[in-house]
Amino acid sequence: MKNQIFSTNEELTTSQHEITKVSSFAEVWECPLTGEKSLHATVNFFPGEVISNLITKEILKYPNYLTVQLNEQEHIMFTSEFLHYINHSCDPNVFFDITNRVATCLRKIEVGEEMTFFYPSTEWSMAQEFDCNCGTQACLERIQGAAHLPPAILQSYQLSDYIKQLVFKEVDETNLMADK
Ligand SMILES: [Zn+2]
Repeated sequence: MKNQIFSTNEELTTSQHEITKVSSFAEVWECPLTGEKSLHATVNFFPGEVISNLITKEILKYPNYLTVQLNEQEHIMFTSEFLHYINHSCDPNVFFDITNRVATCLRKIEVGEEMTFFYPSTEWSMAQEFDCNCGTQACLERIQGAAHLPPAILQSYQLSDYIKQLVFKEVDETNLMADK
């Protein structure tokens, strides 16, 4: 559907990607120039909808670039490897609800649209920090984990219970009002 409303240039970009169907609701797009992979929806999702169950393959003591943080000493590897291709965005459309072990939709996702999540919503201090080029108005540029962002910014995002707990604790300490 999205392809039909793309401009010619974008259509060209889309057709150059190598596309692999990886689940009933998503496919991986691989850019032949950069090798970068991204996960794109093959069905529409609406806010609050469960996109996928998050099934734990392994719990590690230390984070790596594939893990999602559960608490201070537990970092989850999921069984569905395609979830690794949900890239970071400072304006995400997917949330990893670690407490309930589901990925949920934050705002409407249309067929063909890239699925993204906000890494600091689960990661306190990331194993591999990077400069974001998500290109959204909300871009925070350097992404290092929630520990490196002011509570006022974090409060505009949906956060895991673990991150919320750490952020609100910090908010209390600095006498700012937590917007719960
Ligand atoms: Zn960004």
